[in-house]
Amino acid sequence: MNKNQIEQTKSLLENPKKIAIIPHRNPDGDAMGSTLALYHFLKQQNHDVFVMAPNDFPSNLAFLPASEQVLIYENDKESNLKKLEEAELLFTLDFNALHRTGEMGQVLEKLSAPFIMIDHHEAPSDYATVTYSDTSFGSTCEMIYNFILFLDAKDKINLDVATCLYTGITTDSGSYRFPKTTPATHRIVAELLEKGVKNYEVHNLLFDNNSYNSLQLLGRALQNMKIIPELKTSYITLSQKELDEFNYVKGDTEGIVNYGLSLKGIIFTAIFIENKEENIIKISFRSQGDFDVNQFARNNFNGGGHINAAGGKSYENMTNTINKFIKIINTIPQLKN
Ligand code: 5GP
Ligand code: MN
Repeated sequence: MNKNQIEQTKSLLENPKKIAIIPHRNPDGDAMGSTLALYHFLKQQNHDVFVMAPNDFPSNLAFLPASEQVLIYENDKESNLKKLEEAELLFTLDFNALHRTGEMGQVLEKLSAPFIMIDHHEAPSDYATVTYSDTSFGSTCEMIYNFILFLDAKDKINLDVATCLYTGITTDSGSYRFPKTTPATHRIVAELLEKGVKNYEVHNLLFDNNSYNSLQLLGRALQNMKIIPELKTSYITLSQKELDEFNYVKGDTEGIVNYGLSLKGIIFTAIFIENKEENIIKISFRSQGDFDVNQFARNNFNGGGHINAAGGKSYENMTNTINKFIKIINTIPQLKN
């Protein structure tokens, strides 16, 4: 944040306010961790704060302190709309454009209260009074830590704030292995541990929380994996029928896409997951090195994200979507050499 942005933020937070904090749709560890960390931080400054997610979060994030206070927009649109209209300041965290909140975006667009955006995705839209956007960060949680420092309020990082930040930094860095994990990331994490974060418990709650069904679904996904060695590409499909067969619940497909990249010689992978209710195929893309999946998702599949991790969607059926995908990757010279 530059000096001007810091001053503007300080003045917006000078007096106690009604504040809404909003993550993206299908919130992940970083989205929930950053919004709840900011919630615990602002609460200490006597603001009247709430977190409102567009839709529900995965059950393995329910351990985050105050997760039970999170409002779910789509569960009660009428009263949640009213709450949003009453907000005097809105934070949007871990996303770059209002449509990333789904239909809630149309409500947010109409609000006249000021917005503060804190985010690490490419191509931020221009809706906020203060836009703290920086794609060099591996997580929004790491930015929230810096945000608190910019406000000279490091002493307000208590155990609740620290646990939420630790969670988002851990999940968005793939447990400290993705390239944006820096010495600064580890220094921040060291400080969070000094606040008392039980790192082993957080990892256990996040990652050793699988159901039998979700592991069986993973097994099916791995069996469905296809490899195109000459394009250094792999992909996985999961149909709605397969999801139903294993009693899919939100979160069950989290992380499956990464198996496609763990194959020797593969630099680009995708997972295609059918969603009959929304009538779309939801797609996740991952890459290694300089193959830019943000650009790929943006150009071809109505999406976006980061250079090595992005998402998108297709409105065609699975067969047509896969045919389109294969056709496109065959035209990309970068995958051939
Ligand atoms: P995931 O594949 O885990 O859902 O998402 C990977 C990254 O891409 C995340 O940072 C996520 O926010 C972003 N992303 C996922 N889907 C979309 C999408 O439809 N549009 C945009 N702009 N970003 C997405
Ligand atoms: Mn993130």
